[in-house]
Amino acid sequence: MVAATVATGRKPSEVQLCLPTKTQPVELIHAALQADADWRAANPHQAVTPAIIAENRVQELVAKGPALAELGAELRPELHFIGPLQTNKINHALRWAAAVQTVDTPRLAAALAARVPGTEPLPVWIQVNVSGETTKSGAAPAEVTEVVDAVGQLPQLRLAGFMTIAANSPDPAVVAPGFALLRTLRDDAAARFPNLDLGLSMGMSRDLELAVAEGSTLVRAGSAVFGPRN
Ligand SMILES: *Cc1c(COP(=O)(O)O)cnc(C)c1O
Repeated sequence: MVAATVATGRKPSEVQLCLPTKTQPVELIHAALQADADWRAANPHQAVTPAIIAENRVQELVAKGPALAELGAELRPELHFIGPLQTNKINHALRWAAAVQTVDTPRLAAALAARVPGTEPLPVWIQVNVSGETTKSGAAPAEVTEVVDAVGQLPQLRLAGFMTIAANSPDPAVVAPGFALLRTLRDDAAARFPNLDLGLSMGMSRDLELAVAEGSTLVRAGSAVFGPRN
């Protein structure tokens, strides 16, 4: 990922690494966090922020959350939720997740807001289905303004940015326009809410270089780090 930022003329500090850890045991996650900490200690001038850990199933988040929370302060990761979220599982998810990247309807935004623990607003990312593939979750691009407005009206939530899973294609000419679309949607929202610093969670192992070239601020790379899932 550092190579991808440098190749596109961006700084490594502009792009944060998010490690989706589905199917990975806590020991491997711990080792990845240690490697991340070691790399940052050896490269302080890059000013790279610590990796985020993300789970896409509430059950797995709840299973691994306690062990990750027990890690020492220098390794304890920020946990994000990146999968489809059912209303009846929100309380379990928010017990461990510090941010939810998959808000795609005003209804889910309201349900989350009603369950945010404590007084700090919950950072949320609006998931957008940029490819229109029917198998993918996410708001349609035309629905995004409505979701942005819903989040904006809920003081328990803070809009942190936009997230997408790109088209499942090896062809950059198919994938890149989806990333560019997410960036346009982010820029529109940023123009309407100039006080918010809005990120772009886009790019997975297979397309992270393209996503970084299109402005990603948070790359979600699992198999590139942990190897193929079985
Ligand atoms: C698993 C997952 C990723 C990472 O996919 P890789 O191909 O392993 O990099 C990214 N985003 C989401 C939402 C995921 O569930």
